[in-house]
Amino acid sequence: MVIGGGIAGCSALYHLTREGWSDVVLLERDELTSGTTWHSAAQVTNFGAVQTMVGLKSHSIRLYQELAADPDFAFNYHHGDGGIRLASKPEQLDGYRHFVSMAKGMGVDFEVIDAQECARRHPLITTANLLGALWDPLDGDIDPVPLCQALARRARAAGAEIHRHAPVTAIERTRGGEWRIHTPQGHIDCEHVVNAGGYRCNEVGAMMGVMHPVASMEHQYFLTESIAAIENFGRRVPLIRCPTDDFYCRQDKQGLLVGFYEQDCKTWGLDGIDPAFTSALCPNDPDRVMPVLENVFKRLPCLEQTGIRTIINGPITYTPDGLPLVGRIPGQPNAWCITGLRAGLGEGGGHGWLLAQQIVHGEACYDTWCLDPRRFTGHANVEFTARKAIEDYQNEFRFHMPHEFRRAGRLAKTTPLYLSLQQAGAEFGVVNGWERALYYKPSDDFHEHHSFRFNETFPVVAAEVQAVAERVGIMEVSGFTRYEITGSGIADWLDRLSCSRVPRKPGKVALCYFLSPRGHVLAEATIAAIAPDRFWYGSAAAAEYHDWDWLRSQLPADGSIRMESLTASHTILVIAGPRARELLGRVAPRTDWSATAFPWLSTRRVHIGQFEAVAMAVSFSGEVAFELHVPNSSLLGCYRELTAEGDAFGLAHFGNLAVESMRIEKGFRHWKADLITEFNPMESGLARFVQMDKPFVGKDALQAMLAQGPRRSFVTLEIASRTAPAHAGDSIFQGDRLVGTVTSASWGHRIGSNLALAFVEPSAAPAATTLGVEILGERVPAVVCGQCRYDPSFARLRA
Ligand SMILES: Cc1cc2nc3c(=O)[nH]c(=O)nc-3n(C[C@H](O)[C@H](O)[C@H](O)COP(=O)(O)OP(=O)(O)OC[C@H]3O[C@@H](n4cnc5c(N)ncnc54)[C@H](O)[C@@H]3O)c2cc1C
Repeated sequence: MVIGGGIAGCSALYHLTREGWSDVVLLERDELTSGTTWHSAAQVTNFGAVQTMVGLKSHSIRLYQELAADPDFAFNYHHGDGGIRLASKPEQLDGYRHFVSMAKGMGVDFEVIDAQECARRHPLITTANLLGALWDPLDGDIDPVPLCQALARRARAAGAEIHRHAPVTAIERTRGGEWRIHTPQGHIDCEHVVNAGGYRCNEVGAMMGVMHPVASMEHQYFLTESIAAIENFGRRVPLIRCPTDDFYCRQDKQGLLVGFYEQDCKTWGLDGIDPAFTSALCPNDPDRVMPVLENVFKRLPCLEQTGIRTIINGPITYTPDGLPLVGRIPGQPNAWCITGLRAGLGEGGGHGWLLAQQIVHGEACYDTWCLDPRRFTGHANVEFTARKAIEDYQNEFRFHMPHEFRRAGRLAKTTPLYLSLQQAGAEFGVVNGWERALYYKPSDDFHEHHSFRFNETFPVVAAEVQAVAERVGIMEVSGFTRYEITGSGIADWLDRLSCSRVPRKPGKVALCYFLSPRGHVLAEATIAAIAPDRFWYGSAAAAEYHDWDWLRSQLPADGSIRMESLTASHTILVIAGPRARELLGRVAPRTDWSATAFPWLSTRRVHIGQFEAVAMAVSFSGEVAFELHVPNSSLLGCYRELTAEGDAFGLAHFGNLAVESMRIEKGFRHWKADLITEFNPMESGLARFVQMDKPFVGKDALQAMLAQGPRRSFVTLEIASRTAPAHAGDSIFQGDRLVGTVTSASWGHRIGSNLALAFVEPSAAPAATTLGVEILGERVPAVVCGQCRYDPSFARLRA
């Protein structure tokens, strides 16, 4: 059952039929497209900042081409006008160069052009303060209403039902575990429900007890009178999007459609939406966009003499990170959403495609984490979402720079150490709402200039890594996902879920992997056997809702195993480095911290001074290290105990960037950077964690894949550049052939080398193979090296 007949609902319905389901129904409260879709500027670009977005947008483009060319139902799709995304700062051009490299991996060709070329391709723009642009040759716009009708027609032909003027008024779960959808005409029971309610998605969500982090903003565009230069141009003018002056424009008839992202922007409908608001617009408010318009005049002087024909002001939905929510609704079985689309015409075709695959097959052809509704957890309430929506709207065309974490919605989740770490110089980033130190500023006036190249943080991170490698470092890991699992038969239960060997003996810890039923890498967890009937499951902070949903769906029905989240109640202090055992021995003398008494991959209850903690000998840095899992009530006390003794051992703070450098040197993977649902564990280089001699979820599918041979191999690359790291998504070539994609990268400070982790074709994976990574427009030589470039025997970590 799909609720809502805008582009999102129509695309989801159509794609469900394409995936083989015909028993599907769409309910629309009014007419199809009567929400936002009918008045959309409907620009359709390939541009996306990550590969999944590029891939799904390409799907939209291919689909729309096919639909618009259907002789039985042809409609307007101005495809291939080309699009110019302007740049007036060098770092914007660097970003575009990275996006060119990233998009190649999805079979999409962008081009970086200079200012003169922009003027050559667009007859109306001036080049003042213009450095260049990203060119998308396939950019265009589509007529949104017939597009949705075309999708609906095809869905109906494949068996789908569409009921217009059928508002959903209530949703409940039946005793039989189905969804019962009520409308004034009666109710329908269904197995799956999809919320595609657009700006009303939270009205629909409330019927299920769900608050979606989606807020609407008012958004305006102007349609102009005819412009002589356009009439005489001989072909349609390309689209423009400008991150400096916050506008876009495309041709409309013989004039322009100009849209604005004003700083003085306005949320819409946060306190409820008039039920009669349908096929409707917000009141025109041209004054709000005047400051933007003044800059638009400078870029497009012809507009100063051109009259405005129409103003359109309509609600447009945003999520806290600007990407939509497409996937499972957290905590609700068989409930899905395709909401928060702010560029839904361009993306809608692809989102419906990926959603339908998830509903029908459990997962899609691309990893969909960047769209997964479970990436937002408890902090993403109405106020937080509204603040982030405003910020995102104000920065519409400004992509995030590496290490950039914007100001709105900050301090959503902090620990009692926040102020202490700030005093120590912490520059914070955000993980699942939690403030986490990226690095420690060497002086109060230290300021990072975000860049795709190595910048002033390089020596700062180098010093933190050096402290950890030579002495001892302390790091707070806030928000680490941690579930306490209690009951009987826990080890057996986990062992059947995980492809890895689960620890059974109390006091043991193991890194375990979980596969999807299709045999792909789903989750990674540190599992600690605290007692026979008490285990801890620890995973990435971002995985909090994802792993919770997965594990809970697998719990035995007899209630013999229970789960409780300790994510918000505990925090980890990591003590890492060759002097870690000494420091801990001083602060916690009643525990024997020696390598024989407290070896790698073991856990003990300890006292840090007077404060109780669970200590685990595990390491993400490759140095000997202990995670101290501390209740937040005693976190400050525990930290003070450690830092008070720290000076004698050369204790230094270190942050996420130092960890990133060290874990890549070790070849340790990061969930959703290097571990994605597109590949199986063997392809992901995790063979040593897979026990094929026991049953586990995904084993049959994995076996079938193994018989086919690997599609990709996971490698570490050493890159011959000292000016810039590679970036996730960068394309890798062997000669002229594209053979792979970078998943994460950093300078390896201990080995003094520029490193990247990557998936490559198996033929390109043997050690010493020379490849080329396309970094910021240059093909930089890179060599495949051993996966663990630092201490491959793991001697330091066990010391
Ligand atoms: C001015 C403007 C310009 C834009 N320009 C572009 C652009 O250039 N390119 C681009 O890609 N995107 C653009 N967008 C965004 C794009 O239009 C939206 O992302 C897209 O239309 C959203 O589609 P949707 O299906 O999610 O929502 P909607 O179109 O709002 O559809 C939701 C549907 O759900 C129905 N519904 C709600 N509640 C219920 C209920 N209880 N029961 C049954 N049905 C219900 C509604 O009636 C509605 O038809 C623009 C938006 C605006 C406002």
